Amino acid sequence: MNITKHNLFVRKNAPLPGQIQAIWRSPRRQSSLVSRHSDASSVESPKQQPSQLHRISTVNLVRNIVLGKVFTSPFLFKYGVACLSKIANSKSAILDPDKNALLRALIKPMIYDHFCAGTNKLEIKRTLDYLKTMGFKGVILIYSKEIPAMPVEALNDPEPLIQDEDIDSWRDGNVKTLDMVEPGDYVGIKFTGAGPRVAQALAQDRDPPQQLLDAMSIICERAAAQGSRLWIDAEQQVFQPTIDRWTIDLMRRYNTHNQALVSTTLQAYLKSSRTTVKKMLQQSHREGWTLGIKLVRGAYIGSETRSLIHDTKTQTDDCYNSIATDLLSKSFPGFTPQDFPPIELFLAGHNSESIRKAYTLHQNLLQNGDTPPPIKFGQLLGMADDISGELLAMGDSSSQATENPATAPMVYKCMNWGSVRECMHYLVRRATENQSAASRMESTVGVMQKELRRRIGF
Ligand SMILES: Cc1cc2nc3c(=O)[nH]c(=O)nc-3n(C[C@H](O)[C@H](O)[C@H](O)COP(=O)(O)OP(=O)(O)OC[C@H]3O[C@@H](n4cnc5c(N)ncnc54)[C@H](O)[C@@H]3O)c2cc1C
Repeated sequence: MNITKHNLFVRKNAPLPGQIQAIWRSPRRQSSLVSRHSDASSVESPKQQPSQLHRISTVNLVRNIVLGKVFTSPFLFKYGVACLSKIANSKSAILDPDKNALLRALIKPMIYDHFCAGTNKLEIKRTLDYLKTMGFKGVILIYSKEIPAMPVEALNDPEPLIQDEDIDSWRDGNVKTLDMVEPGDYVGIKFTGAGPRVAQALAQDRDPPQQLLDAMSIICERAAAQGSRLWIDAEQQVFQPTIDRWTIDLMRRYNTHNQALVSTTLQAYLKSSRTTVKKMLQQSHREGWTLGIKLVRGAYIGSETRSLIHDTKTQTDDCYNSIATDLLSKSFPGFTPQDFPPIELFLAGHNSESIRKAYTLHQNLLQNGDTPPPIKFGQLLGMADDISGELLAMGDSSSQATENPATAPMVYKCMNWGSVRECMHYLVRRATENQSAASRMESTVGVMQKELRRRIGF
């Protein structure tokens, strides 16, 4: 399934919002409503079974296939990413998509709209509303302005400032992001986005500057007041131990009353990840706060000290799966289910095997009368949409089987927002990530082509 803003044309053409809900939520009513009101090419032949991609528009299917072909062709990929990187790093007005209308007209509909939420409040609202009508429980919205990842030697010694404008603009960007999400949604926070002085404090394991603490108080209190949540992204190892420490301080302060307002991010590719999670469990148990964990594999393998990371992909996979299993079954070594602290688990990733394993275990535990921690799943907008679709379909069948919507998996889409220029580095990373997952991409393209053939009866 491809879940991007191009699907919006379905929504725009539909006469009644209530009918849209029915389109996405009720598979049985879907085909008739779709054929009547929106995408004529989605009409299903009675002999053909709808696939899990049935919610997607044909325009979107085609775009996913085209982008998939680019990502899986070494030649097209090489030149495509070289162009994107050049634009992302250029200071020239001609290569600035916010200033050059022609460049923007090329990048925005084909790439930006595929991966990003929008450039302004109206575009973003349309995207978020649309995703929710599709059955997503919520979204994670991230303000795209960032300083690019850098080695610590590259951090020069910036003079300390009384009032750091980078922190002010980072705070304002995050507050603006909070303004655009709803209760239950998340805002993703990246500490290094607060500028070089904050990055330097992280790299040198210092305490956060008072201005950053004040900014985080504003952001956390705002999020709590409106019922939204925050997660703190994991970054390079040069920053991460301090990010963990600052995040624990926030969780201690705000994750009271058995709820995780703030979640930390754990990178399972690190050899130290099990030890880190054990220490966090011990600390939350000792101090009585809820541990919010977003579990990822880790995104910086290309730039990290390799010896810190598991030697093989299989070891990273095993580590990710074992942490998810131990947290869900409250069987982390050193703990019993009785003294296990309250946790909330967010599984972020595109690996279908890990997702299926965790979802199955969670369902089995519930059926056995156990009380596993709540679990949420998140994929990036424009990526692994077939997996998001599979999770949504599991929700459809699980709710139908039990008549209890609470057993459906809680599925989220995570996306950046900002001007096309501000999102360029993010887009380069997405392109690279898609290419490094080329085999998965090939199978996704295969599934999409099959769905397209089904629709055109070929
Ligand atoms: C919603 C969301 C939020 C995210 N937030 C963050 C974040 O805050 N911080 C962050 O670092 N990443 C983050 N990521 C990215 C994530 O860490 C992964 O890079 C990405 O999701 C791809 O991994 P995967 O779990 O989807 O599965 P796969 O594609 O199956 O796994 C790929 C991953 O396996 C690991 N790997 C690959 N080859 C090897 C090898 N030879 N040896 C050891 N390990 C290997 C790497 O971590 C690689 O990224 C996020 C991803 C999502 C979907």
